[in-house]
Amino acid sequence: MNPNFLNTPIDYLKRVGPQRASLLKQELGIHTYQDIINFFPNKYIDKTSYYKINQLQRNTAEVQIVGKVVHLKMVEQKRGKRLVAKFIDDTGEMELVWFKGHKWIKEGLKLNTPYVIYGKCNWFNGMFSIPHPEMELLEDHKASLKTAMQPVYPSTEKLTKTGITNKVMNQLIQELFLASGGKFYDTLPKYLLEELKLINKAEALFNIHFPKTSEALAKAQYRLKFEELFYIQLQLILKNLIRKQKIKGFAFDKVGELFNDFYNNHLPFDLTNAQKRVIKEIRKDLGSNAQMNRLLQGDVGSGKTIVALLTALLAIDNGFQACIMAPTEILATQHYNGLIELVTELPIQINLLTGSTKTANRKEIHKALEEGTLHILIGTHAILEDKVKFKNLGLAIIDEQHRFGVAQRAKLWHKNDIPPHILVMTATPIPRTLAMSLYGDLDISVIDELPPGRKPIKTVHRYDSNRLKVFQFIRDEIAKGRQIYVVYPLIQESETLDYKDLMDGYESIARDFPSPKYQISIVHGQMKPADKDYEMERFVKGETQIMVATTVIEVGVNVPNASVMIIESAERFGLSQLHQLRGRVGRGAEQSFCILMTGHKLSDDSKTRLETMVKTNDGFEIAEVDLKLRGPGDIMGTQQSGVLNLKIADIVKDNDILKTARYYAMRTLKDDPNLQLPENAIILNTYKKLQANKTIWNYIS
Ligand code: ADP
Ligand code: MG
Repeated sequence: MNPNFLNTPIDYLKRVGPQRASLLKQELGIHTYQDIINFFPNKYIDKTSYYKINQLQRNTAEVQIVGKVVHLKMVEQKRGKRLVAKFIDDTGEMELVWFKGHKWIKEGLKLNTPYVIYGKCNWFNGMFSIPHPEMELLEDHKASLKTAMQPVYPSTEKLTKTGITNKVMNQLIQELFLASGGKFYDTLPKYLLEELKLINKAEALFNIHFPKTSEALAKAQYRLKFEELFYIQLQLILKNLIRKQKIKGFAFDKVGELFNDFYNNHLPFDLTNAQKRVIKEIRKDLGSNAQMNRLLQGDVGSGKTIVALLTALLAIDNGFQACIMAPTEILATQHYNGLIELVTELPIQINLLTGSTKTANRKEIHKALEEGTLHILIGTHAILEDKVKFKNLGLAIIDEQHRFGVAQRAKLWHKNDIPPHILVMTATPIPRTLAMSLYGDLDISVIDELPPGRKPIKTVHRYDSNRLKVFQFIRDEIAKGRQIYVVYPLIQESETLDYKDLMDGYESIARDFPSPKYQISIVHGQMKPADKDYEMERFVKGETQIMVATTVIEVGVNVPNASVMIIESAERFGLSQLHQLRGRVGRGAEQSFCILMTGHKLSDDSKTRLETMVKTNDGFEIAEVDLKLRGPGDIMGTQQSGVLNLKIADIVKDNDILKTARYYAMRTLKDDPNLQLPENAIILNTYKKLQANKTIWNYIS
């Protein structure tokens, strides 16, 4: 085959005229032979299996059944007539229904003769029925069985309307196989095919488009998914390696006095093994000459703060400054207060910069930063402002990264000629496999162990009708000296309604928990920051027992004495949000509880979310379920959705293939970093083509 064959414009394919060519380009992005051969079906109609009528389930979709029509009748309706056939096999009966084309059916259909019917099965009036089934005489069916699995290609309304139906698509691909003789070059080396028992490319392409059996299809799918994921991983790993070579970082050569002094004399607790491991990983990065770009994942309460501090001390020991950025003022303030307490006995300066820092104070901070007398700056987005200049920023720590965009990370880079080391901390556990695919340019550390002595939070689901019992439970807990959160959803689209719910809820709680015996705080987004802080303060100090709030407390306060989290309309929250909210309790020594309140009507997804919360406290397990429910795009937030524009593989379902692909991509590059070995020529070639097409930008932002 001519090596440029696959680059031939689609216009040259038989049956493709100028009009079809432009439609294929517009609607499906198919420009060349290569594009159409890689345009894979998104499902297959399996005509290799047959149902019996008594096997049909209410949720059965397309079915194929052998049976006979024993009776035909016309049913008059207000909206028109329908023709109904009674269809039987040896296990039961069902109906076939036609809303049009009656004459043709009545004349052509043979009663009491075996047919193979195929169609979408409905459950209606206590009977299964198929509207407008495909029908073929059993005799003919047996004779005509060509490919048993029928591919269905993704399509658009415009395509079907203009006659590029699934059948036409199928024919076009047949034409291409005829034109090429089905001889497609392989894109994976022979040794990988052998080692992994993969079928070759030509066979895989043929079987993905024209599978004879489900086994042949499965092999083709595996081969093509592996290939897709292998090259994504290869590109990500190479990109990371190149970045490390190109981007020089500050080398923090020494582990100095501050770090050692703090580590040996001032640690308030023994570090967990996970914390120790992570600190080792970070130290290794900082000691090399490359810029660190590391994601630190650790569930709520896993102890990321101390890791951040130790990392900052390493920077200061080497003559650099550090900053810590948090998404909200509350969180920044909390970091500040927490760190101040930890370093009281160390000779370092820490300060806080947020939107509400007073001008005089702000000026002092600017000055101290430029002079280098301020060692650690903690703050919000305010740190990113151009006015904020460091003498020598060596380390930037970003907490709760999912609220900072890539652009903001980039802004931090430009505070110096040489970019600072970056440590991104997140409590939203992104499943590792997804993180690997999305953040190929970040290295990943995980704190997968909670500090000892934590009591797992008990989580229950209660219906609104049980509210009185829940209130009694609250009373008992308050009597023991505990504090309670009650959280209401606040979704932007229905803000006024949600706000009303919150106020109604507040009033009902105020009625059941009357002052002066009980004191209640309320915090929501429509309050002035000063009022918010005041209410928050009262709760933190223990002056109020109940905090009624919207999700503003999600990534905020740390009140170890709070032991109950009640989440109202819990069905309206996403899983990761529920998990974050739950993380507000369970911070003290007492047993903590999370109560998920809902009405009785729940969707299947809501039920799954609630059951998952009740079942597990493990953030990673929750993230996996979340990923399955919502898909990767949603998890990363809209700004990043669509980053995983895969042709055939599915990041969630093909997790195992992804791991295998990553392993082999790493191994290949470890053995042959520049892909110079003859046996890797195919890989190098394919990689170069992908780079030339900038395919990688489809995958990562
Ligand atoms: P997060 O990862 O959510 O930021 P923090 O760093 O705020 O967690 O830590 C949560 C709590 O656990 C803090 O009160 C902290 O002092 C405590 N903590 C952290 N590490 C340990 C440890 N190794 N042993 C005991 N307590 C710890
Ligand atoms: Mg934290």
